[in-house]
Amino acid sequence: MKAVFFTAHGGNEVLTLGERPDPVPGAGEVLVRVEAAALNRLDLFVRDGIPGVPVAFPHVPGADGAGVIEALGPGVKDPAVGTRVVLQPGLSCGTCEFCLTGERSLCVSYRILGEHLPGTFAEKIAIPRANVFPAPHRLSPEKAAAFPLAGLTAWRMLVTRAALRPGETVLIHGVGGGVSTFAVQIAKLCGASRVFVTSSSEEKRARAKELGADEAIDYTTTDVGKAIRELTGKRGVDVVVDSVGAATWRHSLTAAAKKGRIVTCGATSGPGPAENINVIFWKQLSILGSTMGTDAEFAAMLAAVEAGRLEPVVDTVLPLGDVRKAYERMASGAGFGKIVLKVA
Ligand SMILES: [Zn+2]
Repeated sequence: MKAVFFTAHGGNEVLTLGERPDPVPGAGEVLVRVEAAALNRLDLFVRDGIPGVPVAFPHVPGADGAGVIEALGPGVKDPAVGTRVVLQPGLSCGTCEFCLTGERSLCVSYRILGEHLPGTFAEKIAIPRANVFPAPHRLSPEKAAAFPLAGLTAWRMLVTRAALRPGETVLIHGVGGGVSTFAVQIAKLCGASRVFVTSSSEEKRARAKELGADEAIDYTTTDVGKAIRELTGKRGVDVVVDSVGAATWRHSLTAAAKKGRIVTCGATSGPGPAENINVIFWKQLSILGSTMGTDAEFAAMLAAVEAGRLEPVVDTVLPLGDVRKAYERMASGAGFGKIVLKVA
């Protein structure tokens, strides 16, 4: 099969399009013919090499994918060959204390496609039956590939971890990536009364408003924490979505209302901000971590996509052979929404 792979960590020069052996589905697995795949920031980290996460070279990256069932492994009875599916990118052991309570993404041996395992930037992938879900009928393969990881991440952050309620207010830092474009929509779906976003780009601020954001702040000219306090009559917001980390954390603490919740799924600007513990206890804040999500969360998010209540935002579609261009665009941060690779 044709696949993107690399045999050493490094820059985009390590990304190679070439031939790899067809995967064979093992017991409990299905073989999926990938039609479209999508990039995540994770793919940049995996290409660079993540300390403590060794990969088996040659490594095929890619966590997001949509395609068609091509074959069933031993012991698997469905879905029928030819069924269109999307892939849940998180694999769990099924037997640890967290898996036994359905908390897949807390699994002690949690693995993600394209990080710990061969990924979706290939014509075929073998994957556990439990990780394929029916593709939304209304979506093209390119759009179907564009929501699993980012949609699941945003869903768990807001719906489960922050437990966002109707009438509450939300701040989402740095709108433009996959998670934030879903977070805006999910916040409104939960009935948030006001959703604030930030971006340095006028175009991204305008696009976020089209997605449902109520107000968009330019963080290059405005102190975001102060601005949120002014815009909310000094109260602050109930929930802050912060995946930026070092650059935004101080603003998150300022922007959070008393008893507010700050939920994080990453730290793209660095993991070590000053903590200001005095603000955390005085305002009685909750700091919530979130990673990926459960099958129940994936199914709920998928149902919202199928119903047209959540729309995957696609920035660019490129052929698999233009994978380096796709990585460049991801690294540039210029895009709004998901960068998709058309595989077949
Ligand atoms: Zn487990």
